[in-house]
Parts: sequence; C-alpha cells; structure tokens
Amino acid sequence: MVTERETRDAPPHRIGLWHVGVVVSTAVETPTARSIVLDVPGWGGNIAGQHADVRLTAPNGYQAVRSYSIASAGPSDRVQLAVDRFPTGEVSPYLVDDLLPGDEIELRGPLGGWFVWKPTQTEPVQLIGGGSGIVPLMAMIRSHAASGSTAPFRLLYSVRTPDDAFFRSELETPTAHLEVTWAYTRHAPDGWPRQAGRIARADLSASAFAASLSPAVFVCGPTGFVETVANHLVALGHDPERVKTERFGGA
Ligand SMILES: Cc1cc2nc3c(=O)[nH]c(=O)nc-3n(C[C@H](O)[C@H](O)[C@H](O)COP(=O)(O)OP(=O)(O)OC[C@H]3O[C@@H](n4cnc5c(N)ncnc54)[C@H](O)[C@@H]3O)c2cc1C
Repeated sequence: MVTERETRDAPPHRIGLWHVGVVVSTAVETPTARSIVLDVPGWGGNIAGQHADVRLTAPNGYQAVRSYSIASAGPSDRVQLAVDRFPTGEVSPYLVDDLLPGDEIELRGPLGGWFVWKPTQTEPVQLIGGGSGIVPLMAMIRSHAASGSTAPFRLLYSVRTPDDAFFRSELETPTAHLEVTWAYTRHAPDGWPRQAGRIARADLSASAFAASLSPAVFVCGPTGFVETVANHLVALGHDPERVKTERFGGA
C-alpha cells in the first residue's frame, strides 16, 4: 500500500520506456475529480483514445501502476489526464488530492491502438461515456475539432448529477459537427426533459446514430455501464465489430 505521504516524497525513476512528466497545472473537474496537465519531454504525442500507464514509486521502492486515458491528442509533449478519486484506492486519491504543479510522475505510452479515432475516418461517430469514461472521448472530440473533420459526431454523456460532469464548459460550447446529449442518473436539473436514471435502450434509440448509418461507436466508463450499453447497442442492430469499448474497472 502506497500512502499519500510516501508517494509525495517518492523520487521518480526513468526506467526503460518510462518518461518523467512534470505537472504544469491541475483543474477541478467535479467534487471528486480533477484534470492534470503534464509536460512530458520525449512523449511525442498520441492518437485520440489512447491511454498511458502512470507509475508512482514510494521511498521503499514499492511501485503502483495504473492506466489513465489521455484527454489530449496530437503531436505534443503536453499530456492531459483526468482522474476520479476512489476513496479507498491506492493511486487515484494521490493524483486527485495531492499532486501539485512542479511535481513529477512517471508515464509510459501512449498505449492502445484499438480504441482510437483518427481524422482520416469519415463515417459518423457515436461516443457514449459514463463519468470519467468521457476522458478518451474528449480526446476524440478535440482531435475532431482540431482537424476540421466534417465527420458527424454525437456524444451521449451519462453522469450522476450536473456537478459530476467532466469538461462541462467545453462540452457546452457549440462545436461544428458535434451534438451532445446529457443523461443524468441520480439528479437532473429542474425541468430537464429526461427523468433521472441509467441509460436505457430508449435513450440510445432517441439520441444515438442509428445502426443503419453504420457509425463507429466508442463506449467508455465503468465496466457495468459499458457492458449494459454495448448489449443495448447490439440489440438495436449495431454491428458488434463497430462497437468499441473501454472498461475502466469496477463492478
Ligand atoms: C485503459 C484504462 C483507462 C483508464 N482511464 C481512467 C481515466 O481516464 N480516469 C480515471 O479516473 N480512471 C481511469 N481508469 C481507472 C484507473 O486505472 C484506476 O483503476 C482508478 O483510478 C482506481 O485506481 P486506485 O489505485 O485509486 O484504486 P485501486 O486501489 O486500484 O482500487 C480500489 C477499489 O476500487 C475499485 N475500482 C477500481 N477502479 C474502479 C472503477 N473504474 N469503477 C469502480 N470501482 C473501481 C477496485 O476494484 C477496488 O476495489 C482507467 C482504467 C483503464 C483500464
């Protein structure tokens, strides 16, 4: 078990493919999450949707490694992560509560070549995220905007309450070729047209691209969320080969 104190004092070690990232800034995203911008010399950029391994090393040599999706994309040594805190977790409380500008952590990557979107793709894209599962989808949204792609993009974003949305102001800024639908599971704003509740098949019928359009579909979030949504999509006629999923863990 790595304590917060131990990890704060831990000197990073450059081993093999590991890069040392320096925290440039952090920002509160939700009451339990924040985004972290790192300067990672030698990183060289990433494709939208990829993730990195983050390694913390305690003074006694104990190491903890966790995967985190990259919210940024493109050829840059700047990497943005966004981490939700699991109160009993080993790594996420440190990243959310303790990491400060100037601190160093180790990163390996970018990793993953399946759950990615490239600007050369022209088909409609349906993104479906739950909670912190927005992170790799955000990289796709940003890559889409930066490239000037005209591929139609839709996002269905499920969060517990309005306060639990990551990147809210950016997602609420109108962007060409991106439609965003919000789904609240516990508490919706007053007058919201949809009752609070988990994403159901009817939500997908109402706001996702139809299977007949052969969209590329990316689903990301906690394991249970991803499995439920993927099952609904297949039941609605989506080709399982075109439904790509990324599970962040948990029940
Ligand atoms: C490819 C990939 C990308 C990921 N990207 C992100 C990201 O961008 N942002 C982010 O916040 N997390 C992300 N995760 C999850 C992350 O890797 C850690 O699992 C999470 O931060 C918890 O780590 P921890 O050390 O704090 O908790 P741990 O000490 O590993 O676990 C604490 C407890 O929480 C449970 N748990 C772990 N993860 C979850 C979960 N997602 N949902 C419910 N229970 C869980 C464990 O089963 C355990 O019981 C990603 C995971 C994967 C595989």
